[in-house]
Amino acid sequence: MKDRYSRQKMFKPIGEDGQVKLGKKHVLLIGCGALGSTNAENLVRAGIGKLTIIDRDYVELTNLQRQNLYVEQDCHEQLPKVIAAKNRLQAINSSVWIDAHVMDANYDTLRPVIEQQSIDLIIDATDNFDTRFLINDISHKHNIPWIMGSCVGSTGMSFTILPGETPCLQCLLDAMPVSGATCDSVGIIAPAVQMVTAFQSAEALKILVEDYEALRTTLVTFDLWNNYFQTIRVERAKKEQCPTCGKQPIYPHLQYENQTKSEVLCGRNTVQIRTGNEIPIDILATRLRKIGQVKMNPYLLSIDYESYRTVIFRDGRVLIHGTNCKDIAKKIYYQLIG
Ligand SMILES: [Zn+2]
Repeated sequence: MKDRYSRQKMFKPIGEDGQVKLGKKHVLLIGCGALGSTNAENLVRAGIGKLTIIDRDYVELTNLQRQNLYVEQDCHEQLPKVIAAKNRLQAINSSVWIDAHVMDANYDTLRPVIEQQSIDLIIDATDNFDTRFLINDISHKHNIPWIMGSCVGSTGMSFTILPGETPCLQCLLDAMPVSGATCDSVGIIAPAVQMVTAFQSAEALKILVEDYEALRTTLVTFDLWNNYFQTIRVERAKKEQCPTCGKQPIYPHLQYENQTKSEVLCGRNTVQIRTGNEIPIDILATRLRKIGQVKMNPYLLSIDYESYRTVIFRDGRVLIHGTNCKDIAKKIYYQLIG
């Protein structure tokens, strides 16, 4: 019988022992778009024990350029991403247990997943910072390492966060080049995705075979089109007063009032989303003018985008007119605000 993992076992830092460890590990993948597809495929081919995937979206034609688990048929059938992903992943490696959840990632939905089984690693494959802050708090509260990844245009970045050791996302916020641009406003090329997932999947293998010495300790950022690559040392960014990884953590993003909440406004064909944070509408307006007609006053900004009118209030409220569906509203929200 041929051993499908022979080339991986030949690689010394993994070896026979590492392969056995991989086969016992459980990874939680949050998001199954571009970053999620490639991370999932890499880990399933590598022979991890179990993969839990969470995503609220379905496959659309515009995904196929970079989300490499999906094919045209998935798109015609409007399959939820995690269902299409599970079909494909199971065909790649039937020995991996795949658990697929079509759902929004928030603390209410993630908590049972985390508390009912032991998770060895969380991989961030989301497209927004709200969810990354949620993952950051969950990681520290439940003592599970996580690997951040994000990309837009031809740029990307990644960082590996170990609770109790490295700075967390909250600590790193000042060091991070966050432009507010999203794939829906400036686009994205597939190689940028592949580069981020190469970093994420390699770090994942190191954690899963317990080779912690080999982990990268720097924040990596790159721009493939403009030939730029940088690793940033961030040890000093760790803050004692950090609300997530500091001495007296309060895990702000697990508290109900700080979670992004949505509600259908009765009889108005409108969904309201409350973020709990102020939204810098002046900065936002400059970017949104490139994708739709923007009107603005000192209190709010409105934009006609796709077939919806979205009204963004400075105090953190967003109204999406033209739908009673929370999922559609959230999708528009993340496309516009990121
Ligand atoms: Zn921190």
